[in-house]
Formats: sequence, structure tokens, C-alpha cells
Amino acid sequence: MNPFHSPSWAEAKEECGVMAIYAPNGDAARLIYYGLFALQHRGQESAGIAAFDGYSLSVRKNQGLVSQVFSEADIESLRGVLAIGHNRYSTTGSSSSRNFQPFVIDSKYGPMALAHNGNLVNAGEIRSRLLDKGVGLTSASDTELMIMDLAGSPKRQWMSRMKAAMGGWTGAFSFVLLTKEGVFAARDPWGLRPLAYGFTAEKAFVAASETCALSTLGCREIHEIEPGQIVFCDREGRVTSSRLEGLKTKSIRQASCLFEFVYFSRPDSVWNGLSVHEVRRIFGARLAIDSPVDADLVIPVPDSSISAAIGYSEASGIPYGEAFVKNRYIGRTFIEPSNFLRKRGVSLKFNVLTDSVKGKRIVVIDDSIVRGNTIRPLVAMLKNAGAKEIHVRVSSPPVRFPCMMGVDMGERKDLIANILPVEELAKWSGADSLAYLSLEAAGKAVGSLSKYCTACFSGEYPFAVDFSETKNRFEF
Ligand code: SF4
Repeated sequence: MNPFHSPSWAEAKEECGVMAIYAPNGDAARLIYYGLFALQHRGQESAGIAAFDGYSLSVRKNQGLVSQVFSEADIESLRGVLAIGHNRYSTTGSSSSRNFQPFVIDSKYGPMALAHNGNLVNAGEIRSRLLDKGVGLTSASDTELMIMDLAGSPKRQWMSRMKAAMGGWTGAFSFVLLTKEGVFAARDPWGLRPLAYGFTAEKAFVAASETCALSTLGCREIHEIEPGQIVFCDREGRVTSSRLEGLKTKSIRQASCLFEFVYFSRPDSVWNGLSVHEVRRIFGARLAIDSPVDADLVIPVPDSSISAAIGYSEASGIPYGEAFVKNRYIGRTFIEPSNFLRKRGVSLKFNVLTDSVKGKRIVVIDDSIVRGNTIRPLVAMLKNAGAKEIHVRVSSPPVRFPCMMGVDMGERKDLIANILPVEELAKWSGADSLAYLSLEAAGKAVGSLSKYCTACFSGEYPFAVDFSETKNRFEF
């Protein structure tokens, strides 16, 4: 097993992060570089930046974290007022360099670069259509399908090309496109994945997967791009926007990913107009009301459960504390562990503060249980440290269905909620009790579920999905 592909502690794996920038001082790539650090949590397998200097388009991309991929010389060489960037977690296509983003091609419209977060559920259909037209493809990535589809568009203008191509894509696609005319940032009509834009005091235009990256770069006005909206910034910094039409007649409804609140997004981001930290805090508070327990201490599984644990503590009156110390640097390593290290599993990533838990009744807040890889060893670690009772509270509903929109959760048979009913899961994990947040309570926390995708919890997908699609996909 290579831990890079399937670390034993991985539950729902991260998605990707994208950015697009117009910087009037010609340092767009440097801004992208700093912005990608703020999006590192969304993808740690590879990173890339493409920049256009008015004559040619240059790209640097490689395997690894942002800090590992780019040198000062790389950033210096990526000159120009326009740039896009990407942090990748592979969802379709392997981790091979052919799949690293941004994808860059030459076309009849000039050089183009595209970076994408999400997953097309009709990739097979688009692949066949392109192959029938004689288009050659070099990777298994749906991002390559998107750039080829755009490059082959007969429409006269980029905005029309974007609309025509997007109208034929089904699935999750928040993406950025760099052309010699400017940068585009666009979201699929369901609004599955986040994408926002803003402006710095120096009048740079910045689009990024999460608002936390915009705040990092000092953006003042921040707007979330609407589902089906395309925002364009030209080489002089003029910004225009357009929308896909006819969404109602096609019965397309907004279906923003509820899991962004549970796990993916950083707590300092805003998703669908709501603070991620605040929603997680309410998830925790609802859990305390619906699944109370007598205990001495509430602890989070860091980092994504911290806000929910604070909420549980506030609503229950049980003190909040930290007991797991997370090694934030081991999540993605390219070094194959020895058998000895492999057996250590999640304990390679977490240590316990023994004095904090010894003799105490502990409530452990975990943001989600997907395959069940993590919770059992964590409970064992708390027991070994002398915890008297361990009560697991999960700040999301049971995950029972696969995500077909870009999140690798495994198949139905892999999901622990389909294997063990809640009482047995508690027993199997070694906990004294275990409870999930209900979908209804999650809905109340975000106002209403009507604008959200809940497919991994409810099995209700925002469009028809073919579960054999990913299995039949050609792998490079
Ligand atoms: S299935 Fe789950 S993870 Fe996938 S988009 Fe829907 S809510 Fe998000």
C-alpha cells in the first residue's frame, strides 16, 4: 500500500482547490502561490500554477504540497498579470503526472489552461463524443475532457463557448480557465462545489475555491459565485458576469454539498452565505440536545471537529478540552511505511494527552464516520490512556451512499453505517455509546436542506447517476 493513495486514516478524502488571479502589477503567480497555501487542505497530492505574460503561457506543476512544488525561481519564471492555480486530490484519474493540473493546451483560440474541482458524472458520454470527433486524450481526467470540449467549441466568443460546453456537462464543476483574453471562474448549475471571488486593495481580482483564500490575500469585497454563474476578468481588470440560462426548464435545482460544512471547508470560510465554523458549532449544539450524556470532558478529533465540540460543550455545559494532538505533517507522505509503521495506523497521526483523559468520562466529537478506519483506534487510544467512559458523538448523519460528485468515500459496501447498526458500531468501536446527528437537525442548522446535496446521507442525488460509470472509466 502506498500511503499517498490510501492512507489508513483517510475517511472522506479531500477535494481540490482552484484559484484564478488578475494582478495589475504582473505578479499573479506569486499571489496564487500564497493563496494555494490557504487551500492546501483541499488537496495535497499535487499543485500547479499556469501564468500568461501576454505572449506565452507557462506552467509549473508537480507532485507534493505547495511548499514542495514551487521554488522562488519557479514563481519568478511565471510572469504576467493573469494566472490560475490548483491543489489536487485525485478523484478520477490516478496520481500520475499526466493528471496534474492545470491542464494546458494550445488551441485555435490560443493557449488555454484549466483547473477544476469536482467530478463529471457524464464523463463517459463526453469522452465518447470527443473521441468520435477525432480528439486525442492523454489522461483519465475529466478536466482534460472539459478543456478539450471548450477548445473544440465553434462559438465566436469565450462566454458563449463556456455556456455551450457547461450546458453539456453534468456533475460538479467549479473551475477556472486562463486564456490570452483573461481568466474565467465558473460553477456548475447545481452549485455543488464552492467558488468565490473578490478584490484586493491593489485592485487585483481573485477567485478561489474557498473564501479563506480570499481573506488570506486581503480581499475586501467577497462574493460567492452563484450556481451556473460565469465570472470573467479581462487583461485590464474589467470584470463581467453571465449566467447559464434555462435552468428552471431543465428542472435543475441548487444542490450545494452539505459535506463542505461537515469536513471539507476550513472553519474560517463562508459557504452558501453561512460561516462554516458557526454551522459546525450548531451541529455540535444540536447533537448535545438530541444525544445528551453525563460526562466530564468534551474533546474533538482535530481539526475539523473542533467547532462542533465547542458547540456540544456550550449546549451541554460539559467543559471543552483538547486530548488528541495531531501531527499535521504526516497526512500525505510519499515514503512507503514499513510493516511496523503501517500497523501503527492512525496513531502515527495522533497522540493522546494522557493526563487530560485519565479517569474521566469523555465525549469524543468526530465530524463523520465513513469507512470506520479512524474511530476504533482513537477509542482504543483513549482507553489505553485511562479514560473511564468514552461516548462518541458524530456531528453528521450516517454516510450510507457513495458521492459521485468528486469525493472519494468508497462504495456502499465500504461504508460502515451500512455494515453495522449504531449500537453495534458503538460496541465494535469500543465506545460506551455512539450517536449521530440526524439529517433533520443538520437541515435546521443550515436553515433548510432544499438548497443542499445530501446524497451521501439520503441517497437522493441531484441528477441521475450511473454507479458503474467510475468502474468503466478508462484508467491510464
Ligand atoms: S454526496 Fe455528499 S459529499 Fe458528495 S456532493 Fe453530495 S453532500 Fe457532498
